[in-house]
Amino acid sequence: MAPTSDPKTPFHIAVVGGGIGGLCLTIGLLHNHVSCTIYEAASSFTEIGAGVSFGPNAVRAMNLLDPSIKKGYDKIGTHNLDPKKRLSWFDFRLGMQPEKWVKEGKGDVGKDGQWIANVEAGEVGQCSVHRAHFLDVLVGIVPEGVAEFGKRVEDVTELENGKMQMKFADGTTAEADAVIGCDGIKSRTRQLLIGENHPAAHAVFTGKYAYRGLIPMEKAVEALGNELAENSQMYMGHHGHVLTFPIQKGETMNVVAFRTKDGDWDKKEWVVSMKKEDMFKDFDGWGESVMKILPLMEKPDVWALFDHPPAPTYYKKRLAVLGDAAHASTPHQGAGAGQAVEDAYILSNLLGKVDNADEIEKVFKAYDAIRRPRSQKVVTTSRDAVRIYEFEDEELGCDLVNIKKRLEERYNWIWNADMNAQLQEALNLLDKAQESANL
Ligand SMILES: Cc1cc2nc3c(=O)[nH]c(=O)nc-3n(C[C@H](O)[C@H](O)[C@H](O)COP(=O)(O)OP(=O)(O)OC[C@H]3O[C@@H](n4cnc5c(N)ncnc54)[C@H](O)[C@@H]3O)c2cc1C
Repeated sequence: MAPTSDPKTPFHIAVVGGGIGGLCLTIGLLHNHVSCTIYEAASSFTEIGAGVSFGPNAVRAMNLLDPSIKKGYDKIGTHNLDPKKRLSWFDFRLGMQPEKWVKEGKGDVGKDGQWIANVEAGEVGQCSVHRAHFLDVLVGIVPEGVAEFGKRVEDVTELENGKMQMKFADGTTAEADAVIGCDGIKSRTRQLLIGENHPAAHAVFTGKYAYRGLIPMEKAVEALGNELAENSQMYMGHHGHVLTFPIQKGETMNVVAFRTKDGDWDKKEWVVSMKKEDMFKDFDGWGESVMKILPLMEKPDVWALFDHPPAPTYYKKRLAVLGDAAHASTPHQGAGAGQAVEDAYILSNLLGKVDNADEIEKVFKAYDAIRRPRSQKVVTTSRDAVRIYEFEDEELGCDLVNIKKRLEERYNWIWNADMNAQLQEALNLLDKAQESANL
């Protein structure tokens, strides 16, 4: 069923930002017959970066929002090429030479390439899509006329009649009964909501950066063999790790090589071009596979990884935040965008249950109560995850047996989330708030 282009709510929602979060929210709102407009800063819907993959929880949330999102995702997604590895999220292996472990003060950890663990991700496995292609799937579902472009929100204020007024960078204004900021990690609406000087208003550098690049699959297979090139691998080292997985229906191997940096990120841009020599220096002493992968990376760039300190709230009156604007995370669990999809499912259904603008704040309160703890746990556990991958976890150290055990179980709470139960919990909170207001 296509989302309605004939909404019936007596209130209107402004969705600020048309990325994965804003578009999923809009699709959910329209299915729930909630009137809405997307205000997007760019002149069209755009996505930067190559791949994004989603966990089973996020794929189920897509299906609940609109089965054609999941259908589109399935159509454009690339899985591991070996059918026996169809459900594998990653094979985890040691990625440094034995002498390097000793040099790093870790002693005899194991052989280069030694297999540590395989983690399977529910019914999905590792499934990556090109961001621009996934955005096209979402845009294809949203009816014409729902989005306005070139509308960068600079300010949001409450008017005397209770409505919210947005001021845009082009000097124009617009009003809505409520504003939902889906404006990403550098969110302006987040700053307006929690206060520009609040310590959680801005994203912080997490001490990790990543070289990202692509290798034609033929070359990758020639260098690494079929098993390693065609199926997702994580090569773990001290203060670094390297991911590879197939994309573009197996035509290309995607590479993300992470390293640690003390102190702040001192450049203005978060994505910068790089010299290959810097990358080789960063991975000096790493193992055979990594040494074969790095020289083959075409046009690599460097991404500084930022995340958000926990926001004390996701709403104030009739302004709320969703997706990265609420809880930008590092990519170490491949779960950031999935949280935006979950947010969109819960919030759109809650808004579909009320028929009066005065109830919106109660909706936001229920959304905040249900979504904030879970999505912020994704942010903190994502930082924990990289400490395990990079042998920085104090408790686990280099204990490969316990690292295996931890890896095999640690994603279950993210991937096995029951979205219907979560929505029911949120609806119960909304019911209670409505009942107590009627007493
Ligand atoms: C290197 C890297 C790899 C990642 N890999 C994964 C992965 O594999 N799986 C996963 O689940 N997540 C991953 N993530 C996280 C994921 O990319 C984000 O969680 C997701 O894209 C957030 O979507 P969003 O819609 O909230 O924000 P965005 O995608 O940032 O969209 C925000 C939109 O708002 C617009 N906008 C911004 N400011 C304004 C304004 N003031 N007014 C109006 N419009 C505005 C922007 O133009 C943009 O269109 C990764 C992140 C990084 C950095």
